[in-house]
Amino acid sequence: MKISDMQLFLFDMDGTLYLGDRLFTFTKELLETLKKKGKKYLFMTNNSSKSVEDYVKKLEKLGIAATREDFMTSSQATAYYLHIHHEGQRLYVCGTESLKAELRREGFTVTEKVEETDCIVMGFDTELTFQKLHDVSYLLLTRKDIPYIATNPDLVCPTEFGSVPDCGSVCAAVKNATGRLPVVIGKPAPLMPQLAMDKLGIPKEQTCVIGDRIYTDIKSGLNAGAMGILVLSGETTKEILAESPDKPHLVLQDAGELLGML
Ligand SMILES: [Mg+2]
Repeated sequence: MKISDMQLFLFDMDGTLYLGDRLFTFTKELLETLKKKGKKYLFMTNNSSKSVEDYVKKLEKLGIAATREDFMTSSQATAYYLHIHHEGQRLYVCGTESLKAELRREGFTVTEKVEETDCIVMGFDTELTFQKLHDVSYLLLTRKDIPYIATNPDLVCPTEFGSVPDCGSVCAAVKNATGRLPVVIGKPAPLMPQLAMDKLGIPKEQTCVIGDRIYTDIKSGLNAGAMGILVLSGETTKEILAESPDKPHLVLQDAGELLGML
């Protein structure tokens, strides 16, 4: 697998292209060079609490021009999945207003009434209430075959002071109450890279996933049959890499090293 043969570059964002609010020095040049060479790239994120518009604004603030089309978020991937498997169903969304808006934009009916619900969607809900946990538990316990989908499996989301519970932790709380686990859409599942490849018509042999977490970013790439490129500019240390059962195809100090390989 040669980098120069790759046509589609799927980038994780935090830890890969920037760290918090600090853009890495190579990021602009890397994205511009990919464009110049006629290669495609998308930004891929598991975070379903923010809308694509929020991410467009965040990148703009960092100095990177982007549009809706440049993203594959777990919210977008969840909408694609729902179109295929649960078209027309009314959704109870345990997620932010941003996630609800994204799903409405895709044509789905979002309801807060359990009696109108056909399908449950869990997101990274930074607006979580006990009522939502109550309703989801009620639906799972009283309707054994109700479809139950989660945007992402992350247990925690990093913040400036440490971590806060993410979608996976809330799903774990619901499992304690109901015994049910959701179908999970985001990384490490292969769905996001697969949808990106389908969308742009590029085969897995010419696709690479670049990220700073082995157990989500790299694994989603490997699960989709694409090349996995780990960067050591974020969460993963050499020690974590040595202990990981999943090995990337390539390990770089940071994504800036790709510039010399294109
Ligand atoms: Mg990351």
